[in-house]
Amino acid sequence: MSFNIVRDNKKRVVIVGGGFGGLKLANKLKKSNFQVVLIDKNNYHQFPPLIYQVASAGMEPTSISFPFRKIFQHRKNFYFRMAEVRAIFPERNIIQTSIGKIEYDYLILAAGTTTNFYGNRHIEEEAIPMKNVSEAMGLRNALLANFERALTCATKQEQQELLNVVVVGGGATGVEVAGVLSEMKKFVLPNDYPDMSSNLMHVYLIEAGPRLLAGMSEKSSAHAEQFLREMGVNILLNKKVVDYRNHKVVLEDGSAIATRTFIWVSGITGVPIRNMDSSLIGRGGRIKVNEYNQVIGLNNVFAIGDQCIQLTDKKYPNGHPQLAQVAIQQGELLAKNLVRYEKGMKMKPFHYRNLGSMATVGRNRAVAEFNKVKMQGWFAWIMWLVVHLRSILGVRNKVIVLLNWIWNYLTYDQSMRMIVYARKAKEIRDREIIEATTHLGDDLMQEQQQKEQQKVERSE
Ligand SMILES: Cc1cc2nc3c(=O)[nH]c(=O)nc-3n(C[C@H](O)[C@H](O)[C@H](O)COP(=O)(O)OP(=O)(O)OC[C@H]3O[C@@H](n4cnc5c(N)ncnc54)[C@H](O)[C@@H]3O)c2cc1C
Repeated sequence: MSFNIVRDNKKRVVIVGGGFGGLKLANKLKKSNFQVVLIDKNNYHQFPPLIYQVASAGMEPTSISFPFRKIFQHRKNFYFRMAEVRAIFPERNIIQTSIGKIEYDYLILAAGTTTNFYGNRHIEEEAIPMKNVSEAMGLRNALLANFERALTCATKQEQQELLNVVVVGGGATGVEVAGVLSEMKKFVLPNDYPDMSSNLMHVYLIEAGPRLLAGMSEKSSAHAEQFLREMGVNILLNKKVVDYRNHKVVLEDGSAIATRTFIWVSGITGVPIRNMDSSLIGRGGRIKVNEYNQVIGLNNVFAIGDQCIQLTDKKYPNGHPQLAQVAIQQGELLAKNLVRYEKGMKMKPFHYRNLGSMATVGRNRAVAEFNKVKMQGWFAWIMWLVVHLRSILGVRNKVIVLLNWIWNYLTYDQSMRMIVYARKAKEIRDREIIEATTHLGDDLMQEQQQKEQQKVERSE
């Protein structure tokens, strides 16, 4: 397998990851003189802020995803390749991917983050993460299948395990998913399962810190907590989850909550890339970059968005929050900086313009902060709807999402509660097995080790 991209006289920019940052960068390089190669492990761009609505069967995955090939139709000097990036060899300007190696003149790492299980292998195996569309679909299927089984299972204990939902992580995602699940309990369960009391369903939200929404002000945290408690969510603060055993989430203080729907949205870590010098990895598994998003010590390798940590912005000495706007703004500036760099001009340093942050808790309930202005309740909720609707890619998706929201608001109902598992064709299953064990970059890593070994021997 190979990339099959002809090297022409243009400098090649390889972008890894077509999320908010990578996509903005690729779009902004449209009129540049570069050959642009975008690599993503999926063939579509996704919109994480609405993933929780997919997980709760409130929205179809296609409404918040957009295929790269459609976005870049008719684009010149542009190539998309669906592949997973595995290793980097900066001294040779090569990256290793699941479909082969590719050389670059400039490399931009924008692969975002993955769920952090903090080294707890057991929790990693048992918990349901909710970081992307595919995981959200997995959660939706598990949730609905558990409701179905709760009607027919043999014992009361099993029924309770099936109807308890435990969400671990009190950040924006945890708050949003707990809120939407409590709405499911109130509006969906009584209609869909009239022969089962909806009072049996319990939603727990567990947070290790002292408050929810740690990234927002204490006032917003308090409002979010109040909203969720009013909606019937059981909130446990200062509680650390240490294990999941026998269908029970086990807490550090020895207590346990029975559940078969164990949702883990408790933390993220930068997507790991093999052969990346460990001294370049900072807090949260993020790649250290300078004020121009240049990976420290590597002139032609850059990292943007969630995957990088930049400590040079005076207002954010500990790094920027991992938010869509940071990735978008970094992608936008980097497009300009690459052109400047090529022309031998000085690049411009990145300074984040904070456009605010918000989290929705349920219908008519949200918290929002714009600099010193803080709001909550209905007005914040409307702001949340408008901001997110504007940000979704594609007119079709905007219209579908809006109609969906109006329908749900008026009818208190979503109509997508089907349990659907995609069966992969044998050809795809076989290919995945091969790809999982090949193209790991071991050949170049061995070469590198041999060279280092020879150097040591010569110096002795
Ligand atoms: C559930 C959820 C809700 C969120 N809600 C909000 C919100 O309301 N507001 C907000 O501002 N932020 C929100 N965020 C955070 C926001 O989504 C991120 O900050 C933003 O997506 C970061 O953009 P990025 O371009 O750095 O990475 P991403 O958008 O994560 O994009 C990374 C891309 O890289 C690809 N990729 C990953 N690994 C590889 C690999 N090895 N090889 C090739 N491709 C790879 C992925 O498929 C993806 O397309 C939310 C995040 C989540 C998970």
